[in-house]
Amino acid sequence: MELKKILSSALINSSLEDFAIWMPTPSGKFTLKSAWESTQVKNLKVSWHSSIWFSGNISRHAFSYWQAFLSRLPTKDRLIRHGTQLPPECFLCLHSSESIDHIFFECGYSKWIWGIILKNLKIKRRILNLQSEEEWIRNSFKGKGQLSTAIRLLFQASIYSIWFERNKRAHGKASQHKQQTLAHILAIVRTKLIELQKNDLVNQNSICCSKFLNLPCYPKQKTAKFCIWEKPSDPWVKINTDASLLNGRGGLGGVIRNHKGHCLKWFSATVCAEKDPINLLELQAILMGIQLAAKHKFKKVWIESVSSLAVNIINNNAECPWKAIPVLAHIRRSLQNFHSWKASHIWREGNAVADVLSKLDFLFKGEDLDLSTISPLLLDCMALDSSEFQHPRL
Ligand SMILES: [Zn+2]
Repeated sequence: MELKKILSSALINSSLEDFAIWMPTPSGKFTLKSAWESTQVKNLKVSWHSSIWFSGNISRHAFSYWQAFLSRLPTKDRLIRHGTQLPPECFLCLHSSESIDHIFFECGYSKWIWGIILKNLKIKRRILNLQSEEEWIRNSFKGKGQLSTAIRLLFQASIYSIWFERNKRAHGKASQHKQQTLAHILAIVRTKLIELQKNDLVNQNSICCSKFLNLPCYPKQKTAKFCIWEKPSDPWVKINTDASLLNGRGGLGGVIRNHKGHCLKWFSATVCAEKDPINLLELQAILMGIQLAAKHKFKKVWIESVSSLAVNIINNNAECPWKAIPVLAHIRRSLQNFHSWKASHIWREGNAVADVLSKLDFLFKGEDLDLSTISPLLLDCMALDSSEFQHPRL
């Protein structure tokens, strides 16, 4: 076990050329012993190990980051150096030559993502390259608290997502806008932090971090509660909807799933929402979900929304604000298409699929598009729901 650990550590630190040099014995023969002895004369400890493979990391993110850190990713500059004939332009901006530093830090696509993250965490810093950022994170965020974990997760998730987006474009798949990529990064880090129960608020930056990632701000001693996304019984379908509001633009998202938790239809749309309250948007999202279900002739629908006010309005348990009366009238008319319907409230943690759809940069209106091409995160969220995963709710 120890040997395995050391060998893998040595491999991390070595190029193929190094490997060839340190493996043979003085007589030129390779033995397991020679490998062991070779490892004894090398200093195998690397300072960056703990900042990549920290407890609570997301392994696929850490792996991508590790590859990027060692310049092992097949960026165009590297491929060209090895003799591959291809145009050098970056897939993300189609302008500058693609290299590790360019793709992750100099490219307008990634610069924008870093800029928003740092600004919201109230960190003033010019990002330079992987090495300098790794050193900065390692020295500045040593603890295991929320902010330290969040920064490291955000950093790795950004590297992973930017590289993932670059690969999608390289393989001719539909591109994703930088706002969508950022929304995915934040959603996945948020989910991870809740799972890790990182809710300590020790200073102003932690509070900014909680607000930015929409994390619950409860004191540490609060006990965790759980919620699950409950499947409807056959032949009912469930419509989960959500709305988001950002810089005067409203996002509406929703998904229709059957008794097995399979996605039947979904939507994601944008509306101008300069002065609209979020509850009006929540009602609009519900209306859109209902209309989609009616269009596809589902007869028994269960509507779920994170807005208890919207649910109460539909169930006649709360007064409808005057601004929302036309939307409510549409909802009432559309509900007549169904044999049966019911509406209930769901906690935000159990409504992740609709939440992500409402933040998809508001570009997609085609409910017929394959979700896997839009966002792998959505598939992850749906798989969790189908498995009746208990979402931690702090
Ligand atoms: Zn670029």
